[in-house]
Amino acid sequence: MTAFKSIAPLFLFAILPFSLSAQSPAPPPSPATSVFGYADFSTQAKLEEKFLSVPSARLAGQHLKILTAEPHMAATPEDHKTAEYVAQKFRAAGLDTQIVPYRVLLNQPKVVRVEAYDASGKQLMSGPTREHVDGDPGQDNPRVVMPFNGSSGSGDVTAEAVYANYGRLEDFNQLAAQHIDLHGKIVIARYGSNFRGVKVYLAEQRGALGVLLYSDPQDDGYYKGDAYPMGPWRPETGVQRGSVQYLFKYSGDPETPGVASTLDLPDSARLKNVTGPNGDQPKIISIPISYHDASPILQALKGPGVPQGWQGALPFRYHLGQTSGPGAVRVHLVSVQDYQRRIIWDVIGKIKGSQYPDDWVVVGNHRDAWVYGAVDPSSGTASMLESVHGIGALLEQGWRPKRTIVFCSWDAEEQGLVGSTEWVEQHAQELDRAVAYFNVDIAVAGTDFSASAVPSLKEFVRGVTRAVPSPLGGTVYQQWRLTHAGDSEPPAANPKPSTEEVSVGDLGSGSDFTPFLQHIGVPSTDISSDGPYGVYHSTFDDYAWFTMNADPHFLYLQQMARVLGLEALRMADADVLPFDYVTYAREISAYIDAAKKKAQDAGLGALDFAPAQAAAGRMANAARKVQSLQSAANGNLPRLNLALRQTETAFIADAGLPNRPWYRHTIYAPGEFTGYSAVVIPGVNEAVDAHNPDLAAAQLIVLTQALDRATRALDSAN
Ligand SMILES: [Zn+2]
Repeated sequence: MTAFKSIAPLFLFAILPFSLSAQSPAPPPSPATSVFGYADFSTQAKLEEKFLSVPSARLAGQHLKILTAEPHMAATPEDHKTAEYVAQKFRAAGLDTQIVPYRVLLNQPKVVRVEAYDASGKQLMSGPTREHVDGDPGQDNPRVVMPFNGSSGSGDVTAEAVYANYGRLEDFNQLAAQHIDLHGKIVIARYGSNFRGVKVYLAEQRGALGVLLYSDPQDDGYYKGDAYPMGPWRPETGVQRGSVQYLFKYSGDPETPGVASTLDLPDSARLKNVTGPNGDQPKIISIPISYHDASPILQALKGPGVPQGWQGALPFRYHLGQTSGPGAVRVHLVSVQDYQRRIIWDVIGKIKGSQYPDDWVVVGNHRDAWVYGAVDPSSGTASMLESVHGIGALLEQGWRPKRTIVFCSWDAEEQGLVGSTEWVEQHAQELDRAVAYFNVDIAVAGTDFSASAVPSLKEFVRGVTRAVPSPLGGTVYQQWRLTHAGDSEPPAANPKPSTEEVSVGDLGSGSDFTPFLQHIGVPSTDISSDGPYGVYHSTFDDYAWFTMNADPHFLYLQQMARVLGLEALRMADADVLPFDYVTYAREISAYIDAAKKKAQDAGLGALDFAPAQAAAGRMANAARKVQSLQSAANGNLPRLNLALRQTETAFIADAGLPNRPWYRHTIYAPGEFTGYSAVVIPGVNEAVDAHNPDLAAAQLIVLTQALDRATRALDSAN
């Protein structure tokens, strides 16, 4: 799983794999002479050069082929086989490696059925139709799981269908404004724009009996370009599986929020009936389908025409549906889900730090896939294994990192960030000293590098990409800036420098950084190389698709291995932690200003934002003083480093966010109604959005206190 992003067209790079083989490779970037966090970078520069020479495109391609040989959904024997493979590679590189099991509640589908009838009783469709295209080598494997939603309810319901566009809050509000009552109805909504669990959550709140989720060709199908196998976009029968868990409440095993689901955790310590009427998880049925199956339903829906922006790319006019009369379409859904406590396997490999063994640099990627998962997540695993290969080569030469490096291969991410969340919950105390978490999930779907990070690590990520060569010539950073600027010219081998910085995104949710950052306050980053990717969570996200569309020569797997490994190396060996709290304070100030303006626009002008603004100002002052200490990189470094590390933890409020106490970060959370994208200063913003001035005032105090804790943490460096 990862955030569903809108993707810029990348036609300009399409010829590159051919031209590359004809050219000599671009010269490697010249090593940096001074790097923030290092008193003298010359020794480290040599080490980085050695590291960068190791990750191999050929070997990354080999890992990818092996990892995607079979479907490997979490808790299956094939998933265990991939754990063994990763553990073997970790051990071969010299990592102290363990396969760590957890016992967690997961559903697997027994029966999934969808039928639709018009008002006269004529059958319009019966499905789901098997995913099939001409020539895909993996589609007929009997271990391909039928399309289903993780955390779906079970049941057998029949009702009239109503079209709800993307199933966003504003879409449901629009239906309500048109007096369309969803009680006892079945919602049909298209994928995109928000997390699928939010669509189901909103439908359930409004009384719907079930949800059909489909992929409209407008969003990732023929409207975007040629469909697989002609091109990279979603074919007619392609289905997006995925979890509908209410992740915006908490991630991980639904039965154990805040507690690790170790094998010896007794059942009595697990929540009861989480999928029941009083549970925190979906109660209604939700089934994902292709547009092949959705089309006859949508075409038969009559009633009001759709509002502006709701029309998809199927070749007929869309309507909202009638709840009675000749335009009513009755849909019959059957979902039998086998909920069991199942064993999953994280793989954890450690390299003990020579100077600060208790300070961990954690690197992670999930390993489980809905089916073959060539892009999601095996491109990440193949890249991470080559990062490990590179670091192993340094270990062989006698090098040891100053801080402990921990590589993690997570399981059951797709079901709700389960493997990472349980591990974080188990090790929360030790992770109090973890200096950073570097995530990768969809490492490679194309050539377009992007990154998200906490503000303190945004410049750090840019710095790392300045040291890594791009397959397109120059550095990853230079190419990133070019695509960012939307340059329509073919990229030159040595792009001209510009003063404009590329923007690094904010961390919302949808991948394994969530428990690290938003539950316990470990500074995090997430990186990927995006492209036209229409086979997300379908059978067709396989090795054949990958080598045809994403990265035929595995050069981007190599690139991502270098970026990820260099993040770990640079952080693990830094004299002073290279966190930039001046930028962090400035961004928080901007968040407060924006929230204030929103509150005024919403008629909540009486709310007093001044104390929070003043607290952000105090933090900025403290951050500037600390930054001069960091630049000097002398004095009491352990104290300075501890202060820098504790500043992020200071943003954690023990009570958590209103109505979702598992989320405790006062600056970032996944949006309650978006799920993937970040909501900033969430306590305040969500209270303003809910027009609740008392709650907003209380959350402004919580924020002010967190900022003052951060200021005290920074001041403790002096
Ligand atoms: Zn993923």
